[in-house]
Amino acid sequence: SPPYLQVDDLRVRFGTADGEVRAVDGVSFGLHRGRTLGIVGESGSGKSVTSLAVMGLHDPARTKISGAIKLGGRDLVGLSDGEMRKLRGRDVAMIFQDPLSALHPFYPVGRQLVEAYRTHHSDASKAQAKQRALDMLDRVGIPQPDRRFSQYPHEFSGGMRQRVMIAMSLMNDPALLIADEPTTALDVTVQAQILDLLADLQREFHSAIILITHDLGVVSQVADEVLVMYGGRAVEHGSVAQVMRGPQHPYTWGLLASIPSLHGDPEVDLKPIKGNPPSLINVPAGCAFHPRCAYAMKPEPCAGQVPQLLAVQADGGDTGIPHRVACHLPEPQRISTYTDEIAHV
Ligand code: SF4
Ligand code: MG
Repeated sequence: SPPYLQVDDLRVRFGTADGEVRAVDGVSFGLHRGRTLGIVGESGSGKSVTSLAVMGLHDPARTKISGAIKLGGRDLVGLSDGEMRKLRGRDVAMIFQDPLSALHPFYPVGRQLVEAYRTHHSDASKAQAKQRALDMLDRVGIPQPDRRFSQYPHEFSGGMRQRVMIAMSLMNDPALLIADEPTTALDVTVQAQILDLLADLQREFHSAIILITHDLGVVSQVADEVLVMYGGRAVEHGSVAQVMRGPQHPYTWGLLASIPSLHGDPEVDLKPIKGNPPSLINVPAGCAFHPRCAYAMKPEPCAGQVPQLLAVQADGGDTGIPHRVACHLPEPQRISTYTDEIAHV
């Protein structure tokens, strides 16, 4: 069957006082229900803008979008605000890093859950909607849902508030859930609990999940597939096993070297990637990563030609999705460089 979500050659641009921002520049991927895709990159890589476009949360007056975002076969690009509002919350819902930005401070959380439900179930009675809200609060692991129902967002701890946000996102049983850095603001223990909860809920609700994060360690815990973004483009895409065990893009190597959880010894120096991500107003020509890449061949081809995202030859081939990489280095050199210089350091 075709993927529930199919994004084809997505391009998102918007104007600012400093010039046009090319936030997403030709990104394509598919995602089936029951699967989790981690979209990884530093801030300014285009990962959040990609998800906002899927949610229809961009400002239509300032933003130019082209390509296709097909949800259950229906293209969302070009839908009106009103049509998008009907889909949002019902077919696709979002979990933000900061639940306080998504929850209204002046209303009890129960009332907000009830309203989220009745927006898409206009014939549901108040009692039915309340029962659904209590069930969801219970399902996301909030003790005493009856008492918590009438409390305000500020009366919840950070972790409990993120659980309320997850309950809210699930009220209408959406087929696609987008979580943008959902655990970044939480301490490590609570972070692990929330990631476990998302994995449990996915099994129960059989939704597709897009998890947006700067942390490949988080992705390796919960995702099935990884899309690595840099400068508004996809630079590597594959199953978690393909990308974590046999990464072939120098930027992915840099991300891997900066995961604290992969280095058991706290004395081991983590190596943050040198330099800064490019401005999306002025993306470097050729491979956008070339100013920071230790393996760049300059000026040609790396500073002159944009590398295409191509399937690798050494694909395990067992996961149903091709492993794809956008880099001018010949594949044997990418494999030997990773194996000899990166993997065992
Ligand atoms: Fe480095 Fe060139 Fe590959 Fe870009 S295309 S990652 S600059 S080697
Ligand atoms: Mg972001």
